[in-house]
Amino acid sequence: MNSPNNEHEPGEGVDTLPIPLSDLRRQHQALRPEIDAAIGQVLDRCDFIRGQAVQRFEAAFARTLGTPHALGVGSGTDALYLALVGLGLGPGDEVITAANSFAATAEAVVMAGGVPVFADVDDETLCLSPASVERVLTARTRALIPVHLHGRMADMEPLSALATEHGLWIVEDAAQAHGARQGEHQAGTVGQVGCFSFFPSKNLGACGDGGLIATSDPELASRVRMIRDHGRTDAHSHVLVGQCSRLDTIQAAVLLVKLPHLAAWNARRRDLARAYDQALRGCPGLRLPPLDPGAVFHHYVVRTRSRDALMAHLQARGIGCGVHYAHSIPEEPAFRPYRTAATPVSDQSCREVLSLPLFPEMTDGELLRVARAVCEFFGHGA
Ligand SMILES: *Cc1c(COP(=O)(O)O)cnc(C)c1O
Repeated sequence: MNSPNNEHEPGEGVDTLPIPLSDLRRQHQALRPEIDAAIGQVLDRCDFIRGQAVQRFEAAFARTLGTPHALGVGSGTDALYLALVGLGLGPGDEVITAANSFAATAEAVVMAGGVPVFADVDDETLCLSPASVERVLTARTRALIPVHLHGRMADMEPLSALATEHGLWIVEDAAQAHGARQGEHQAGTVGQVGCFSFFPSKNLGACGDGGLIATSDPELASRVRMIRDHGRTDAHSHVLVGQCSRLDTIQAAVLLVKLPHLAAWNARRRDLARAYDQALRGCPGLRLPPLDPGAVFHHYVVRTRSRDALMAHLQARGIGCGVHYAHSIPEEPAFRPYRTAATPVSDQSCREVLSLPLFPEMTDGELLRVARAVCEFFGHGA
């Protein structure tokens, strides 16, 4: 119960407030004056397309990645699509990717004229399994798209070795992995191209759609620069048939305000993941995600055979949770025609995964409440 003056006494009231899976309002409330000012400056200049903030954000993002070229585009899906087109993917070319991802990964391949080929994932990391990739390689394979799912990088060393051996491009789907690392490598800097999304709920999110392509290949960068803007080299010369997919200036201005906070937000996500790990260890039949130090926990995904019952238990207590993802992509009607090899690990994981609330502004008290509710479900003393 709230006290009459509406202030929460310790241990009172807050214990019954709903806990969302993620809460964008808290982040925007905290940054609101800066975001308002940044948007106001764009309105003053009216440089809505290819404006100053776009170039400034691209430069700042390139610096954090340590990559020479960062190109803002319309969305993460467009980033994947433009990367494949820019590399020169041709009709019928096969692109191997993970069976469990957001559908956009495979969508981009089809839009670019290629054929998505689904490989299975590693049972621990839920990321593309190099052994499974080897089983679906053919003479038509041109590229691999490892997905750094839930903020954890796919095992890039064996995947890079396979790519080198077979002459394949690597396009990293880093839509969930801004700032993730593996050894000295950052997500989005290992392959020919790294693709990012700034969908509002991502670790770095805009106030609308946005995406970015990172590459160290100057030729690819200049092709993508043209394709994203009607195939132009300048206002009057259309040298390629391109399209219209630019990061808009207002979104870039918002992202410039948020980028300096990314490292601290990711560190907080890791701390929360560690706290979950401590609190939930020992729940019988519950699998916790590995705690590798380079992961940035876009989602905190537990696995259990009683997923649906656990979800109902949490929802009944006002605790938001999510399923990422309910089906492997090749199980979806749109992609069934592309299903070739079986992907049993991915298919099974989709029946077991549950994302618990995790966002940088989540309080320690909220985390403990979620953990207690999970432990209660498994009859485990918290
Ligand atoms: C969000 C996401 C995308 C697509 O990004 P959009 O900006 O929504 O187009 C692609 N791949 C993965 C893994 C994603 O999570």
